[in-house]
Amino acid sequence: MRKRNRIDIPPSARASKPWFFEQPDDEIITEIKEFIEKTGKPYLWRGHTHNKPPPDKPVVYLDEFCLPKACRRDEDLWSPCPCCHDDIPWFMGTDREPAKIAWFPEEGIIRLIGHHCFAALNREGHEQALRDLRRRQEHKKHVQFVAKNIHLLDKALAAIDHNMEIAELLDAFRQCLQRKLAAFTRFRLYDNIRNGQLIVTTRSSKLIWIRTARRKSNAPTFAGFSQPFADTSFSNLNEHP
Ligand SMILES: [Zn+2]
Repeated sequence: MRKRNRIDIPPSARASKPWFFEQPDDEIITEIKEFIEKTGKPYLWRGHTHNKPPPDKPVVYLDEFCLPKACRRDEDLWSPCPCCHDDIPWFMGTDREPAKIAWFPEEGIIRLIGHHCFAALNREGHEQALRDLRRRQEHKKHVQFVAKNIHLLDKALAAIDHNMEIAELLDAFRQCLQRKLAAFTRFRLYDNIRNGQLIVTTRSSKLIWIRTARRKSNAPTFAGFSQPFADTSFSNLNEHP
């Protein structure tokens, strides 16, 4: 790795800023992201504390970020990290490994750090914080999806009502078909195919053969059954064990 230039970190950045004993809200997170997008220098954000976190204290990853594209392309413009390399360009954040907005609730401090950086100090704490972040991101995604599609609710309910009509008509058809079949055979067709399988038993002189024919339960047509079982009389169909 080539030698990287040192960055002059102002004392104001290194000073502790225990301003966040309450969990920072979305407004703070938006402010941090906008500042990074505008300046490319997370270590200069007014609320960032640029000193090493204690390894035994819990951390919460509030959100993730990447440096602006122009900074990512040039290693000299990467950000120093208070966990591990506090005055040389060290991280930029990528889609696969975005940098972290790390909140240390017991210190009331926010540090803007690289993706893996806190893991070197406390692997278990890092992994727990990462799992919690993923769970919260997933939940947020679901809430946003519902909020975005709430206007479709009326259409969805109308579709359910419409499909209920079709289901009732299909049920009436099934009952009608069952009556017609019962008129000329003892075979109860629907009862024998309702799980999507038709079990057929035929007798030979010494052995009983069981043939199982899989049919798609959503497309049963009476004509369709006559071909595969052309050699089987319907009077035997209700004799399966
Ligand atoms: Zn680091």
